[in-house]
Amino acid sequence: MYCPKCRTFPLKQATVKEGGGVAINYCKQCKGFWLEKGEFEKVSPLAIKDLSLPAEAKKVLRVCPACQELMFEFYYPQTYVTVEMCKSCEGLWVDAGELKEIETVRDGLKSKGKFQEYDDVCGIKGALLNFIDKAINTLQAL
Ligand SMILES: [Zn+2]
Ligand SMILES: [Zn+2]
Repeated sequence: MYCPKCRTFPLKQATVKEGGGVAINYCKQCKGFWLEKGEFEKVSPLAIKDLSLPAEAKKVLRVCPACQELMFEFYYPQTYVTVEMCKSCEGLWVDAGELKEIETVRDGLKSKGKFQEYDDVCGIKGALLNFIDKAINTLQAL
C-alpha cells in the first residue's frame, strides 16, 4: 500500500490507543492516514454510519492505496475537514494538514473557556477532529 499523497512511500501500520485500539495505516513521510470502511465508526459513536460518497464529491488525482483507483474529495459531513474516499472500498484518506483545522477549533474553544474533548461541544465534527488529533499524537510518538 502506497501513500496517495507521496506516492512512493509505503504506508505503515499503527495502533491508535486512544481510539479504542484500532489499527490504522499511515504515511511516515506526510503523516496522513488511511481509515478502512467502518474504522471511524468503530472508534466514535458520533461518526456517520455507512458513510457513502456524496454526489458533490470531486475526482482527484490521488490513488486508493487498496484498489489503485482514483479517489473522490469532499467535506466530511457537518465539518470543513476535507477527506478523500475510494468509491470501490469506501476507505477514507485524511491529510495531516487537517491538524490546522483542529488547532483552529481548539483555539476557539480555549478562548471561550471551553477547552475539553471536542465531542462534547462540536458533535460529529468534534468526534472526527478528536480522532485525528489522537491519531496524529500517536504517530508523532512512534
Ligand atoms: Zn504520504
Ligand atoms: Zn479502494
